[in-house]
Amino acid sequence: MSFDENTNEELPSLDSHAHLKTTRTSSELVDTGAVLAMTLSLDESTLVVDRNEPYIVWGVGCHPCNLEAQKTFDKDHFYDLVERAAIVGEVGLDTGSRVPIDLQRQNFRKILEIVTEIPRLISIHSYRATELVIKELRQKNINNAIPVLHWWTGTADQTQEAVALGCYFSIHSAVARHSKFRTRVPLERILIESDHGYRDPPSAIPCRIEWVEHLVGQQLKLEIKQVRHLVWRNLGLIIRKTGTCELFPKIFAHVLKKRV
Ligand SMILES: [Zn+2]
Repeated sequence: MSFDENTNEELPSLDSHAHLKTTRTSSELVDTGAVLAMTLSLDESTLVVDRNEPYIVWGVGCHPCNLEAQKTFDKDHFYDLVERAAIVGEVGLDTGSRVPIDLQRQNFRKILEIVTEIPRLISIHSYRATELVIKELRQKNINNAIPVLHWWTGTADQTQEAVALGCYFSIHSAVARHSKFRTRVPLERILIESDHGYRDPPSAIPCRIEWVEHLVGQQLKLEIKQVRHLVWRNLGLIIRKTGTCELFPKIFAHVLKKRV
């Protein structure tokens, strides 16, 4: 792939998967850089779907480890929220979860049906369930929706299949040294994440992203600045493909549009 080598423009850090407490005010979130903020339940998604911070996009989620959220999942409610949101996440499967896997799978399938109809970036948890997630994506053609495998721990072969299925990878520092990202994943499928937690200070996100940029840059033989420009461009292309530009905050969308 060739991407814009003109890296003089200063871009904020771009975190493709983090968790921000919904009780944080907008003024508490001014130093986070650009963030795709995941939610864990429909209740949480409902609280944030209409928020508007210049560089934060809130997802609609139902986490595979959240028993209450999985038990009370409502497809119509999820559908309504997805229509109003720019991205979906965190969703997925986890065999170590106390939530029965059949229930997780049933809900995950409903979510895949929704994004097939309403294309969105969908941030997918696959911890201890990489093969199961691949199987679901293999069985269901989700049209223009874009699956992003977050904190991916799959084998090289699974990674190769995920690439063939159209997946992107949001790379966390814990997996950034895995060689499969260099050997099996094209540059245009790479994103970066912190998976920052609720208790962590939001203003620390840019430092954590910079650390992953260092690790990924070392693996891919790219300058840190090039990694940053690459992930902005990659997200820009996702937004174009899913047709979700208008759902992003204006400034965020403007920066993304300029990168592609
Ligand atoms: Zn997460």
